[in-house]
Amino acid sequence: MNEKKCKVLAAQIRLETLRVIHALGFGHVGGSMDLADLMAVLYGEVMRFDPKNPRWEDRDWLVMSKGHAGPVAYATFGLTGYYPVEEAYTLNKPHTRFPSHTDRKLTPGVDLTTGSLGQGVSTAVGAALGNRIDGRDNRVFCIVGDGEADEGQVWEGFHFASAHKLSNILFFLDKNGYQLDGSTDDILPHGDLAKKAEAFGLYTQEIDGHDVMAIYDAIQKAFAHTDGPSCIVLDTIKAKGATFAEPKREHSSQPSEELWQEALAASEKALQDIMNS
Ligand SMILES: [Mg+2]
Repeated sequence: MNEKKCKVLAAQIRLETLRVIHALGFGHVGGSMDLADLMAVLYGEVMRFDPKNPRWEDRDWLVMSKGHAGPVAYATFGLTGYYPVEEAYTLNKPHTRFPSHTDRKLTPGVDLTTGSLGQGVSTAVGAALGNRIDGRDNRVFCIVGDGEADEGQVWEGFHFASAHKLSNILFFLDKNGYQLDGSTDDILPHGDLAKKAEAFGLYTQEIDGHDVMAIYDAIQKAFAHTDGPSCIVLDTIKAKGATFAEPKREHSSQPSEELWQEALAASEKALQDIMNS
């Protein structure tokens, strides 16, 4: 694990995520930006994939169950060679391959279509079971939002994965404390999400979701646990790195052009600072 390389990739992902959404002018900045560190570890250090052959049958699968975080996936796939990242600057425009929510029929790198919250967990579990039935050792990485965890389907999926001892799936619960309409504590308090996941039979760890080393180590531990599925609860800051959105933990953002330029400049500087460190 090369920590600096990973931090540089995370900063590049943040900058490109902002550029992708800026090209449209508005979008899901908050839930995209807080996943940059995870995506950098997954695509920089952990996952098996071939950008020239996105449907390679031995690839690991990513299921962005919180499908509104499409922009961070598009930035990551562009930076890792699936297509020139600038192509994703057509986000949500007519005839684009980059809709706001991830769609497997349109975008290279997207393994399953998501956006209807909760369903990504079920389809990811199906993929993991299918891979096992086929005798493959592919792993499935499924990213779930904490607001998304209001959906009963998330817990049904966890229950099923655990009952079938699917040790080839790893869930990430992005605990940023906010969802579309406000804080998760105001809307539907979860209590201790890690304990709940554990109670559903998942081997669960809770870590700082912005610490690339901690993320990498937790993933290694998760796959060393071969009795069943695992879960990593990521403590994150919604909209991390987006100057106009982070203070208010915004879900959707439509800032002025001036605020966009401020955020893009801050993100470019953050990247330079890490490269020079
Ligand atoms: Mg959330």
